[in-house]
Amino acid sequence: MRSNSNTQPLDAFWMPFTANRQFKKQPRMLTSAEGMYYQDDKGRPVLDGCAGLWCVNAGHGRKEISEAVARQVAKLDYAPPFQMGHPLAFEFAERLAAIAPEKLNHIFFTNSGSESVETALKIALGYHRLKGDATRQRLVGRERGYHGVNFGGISVGGIGNNRKMFGAGLSGIDHLPHTLNINLNAFTKGLPEHGVELADALEQIIALHDASNIAAVIVEPMSGSGGVIMPPKGYLQRLREITRKHGILLIFDEVITGFGRVGKAFASTRWGVEPDIMTTAKGLTNGVIPMGAVFVSDEIHDAFMTGPENMIELFHGYTYSGHPVACAAGLAALDIYEKENLFDRAIEMEDKFAESLLSMKELPNVIDIRNTGLVAAIELTPEADKPGERGHKVFKHCYENGVLVRWTGDILAMSPPLIIEPAHIDQMVSALREGILIANN
Ligand code: PMP
Repeated sequence: MRSNSNTQPLDAFWMPFTANRQFKKQPRMLTSAEGMYYQDDKGRPVLDGCAGLWCVNAGHGRKEISEAVARQVAKLDYAPPFQMGHPLAFEFAERLAAIAPEKLNHIFFTNSGSESVETALKIALGYHRLKGDATRQRLVGRERGYHGVNFGGISVGGIGNNRKMFGAGLSGIDHLPHTLNINLNAFTKGLPEHGVELADALEQIIALHDASNIAAVIVEPMSGSGGVIMPPKGYLQRLREITRKHGILLIFDEVITGFGRVGKAFASTRWGVEPDIMTTAKGLTNGVIPMGAVFVSDEIHDAFMTGPENMIELFHGYTYSGHPVACAAGLAALDIYEKENLFDRAIEMEDKFAESLLSMKELPNVIDIRNTGLVAAIELTPEADKPGERGHKVFKHCYENGVLVRWTGDILAMSPPLIIEPAHIDQMVSALREGILIANN
């Protein structure tokens, strides 16, 4: 076993999505968390500007969740999900259906966002086959879309780095154009006015392949990992109209937007567009226990339930689907969200968040600031020949000054826990402002 000078064995853990060699020279270790703050291994508080990784929506260290988890481990630690059930999975599914968009009343549990995406794609393909439309096999994603890291997800996703090492992926996939247009929409507060017509690219894909060959369109209502890209006003409605007209299913990947991030329980609720299938994870359990949930419409679910009785309807599932401990965490998280009205909180805080961030619009190299609810991005001009370097400098400055933001290339993303108070926003903006000024030198 090799170790660094602190005698920490850092080589064994191959960290995901991380420049491992660089990290292990200068590790950043978080050791505990409470409310809006992490604490690092030097005892410094670090304001969590990202809700972990877009997931700890009710803030850290929630006793209600840890106690529910402890009780559940002691009572029923595991139950097989195949041909057996346990009450908590049924109860959690009922509770989720109650807050879901109107017709999405059936819940399939997974263990992550990536698994939710694979599950949703398989349900969409299976649905068409059950309806006698077996030619509907093509899928449509979107440029810059992020749908997890499994083969279906990286294929419908539109982020080159996630795909290019891994071969051909799924075949039969087209991508809509992304909706980021800094020329027209820079520094928009909330959803941009321009770009609704980008949804019409779907008509061209349909003209090329014929609707009878297309199973589903999958998009994030708001792209998160691809750079916090808002849907232009009317865009999601237009996608809904086109998919409905052609019998194509619409899947919203709400792994980030679910559970209050943009206000209301889901983006589809806030923006009034109901998909046929919705994927979730992250905030589902407040990030405490890994879990995902796929919300499926009555119509799709019914198609699977009309075959012969005693037959397995969907050959798909995971050892940990509907895990009792994850259900306990999810129920406790949902109780907190509801009791503290956290789904409305992003709307209440939206103006303050937007105004504070937009106060940085005149800083050097800032080319866009965009936000909705409690999620935002600041985009910077790249340094000559060194894309990502400026963003990294701002991230480092913020972290060293006790504020965690997310950095992808020259885009900084903020998605704080929904319990955030105005003073936390001020702390975040002050670190960002300094960081941006320093990164200018
Ligand atoms: N879909 C979206 C929209 C996501 O943002 C993510 C994760 N950032 C995923 C899927 C994948 O989730 P996980 O990392 O839990 O597999």
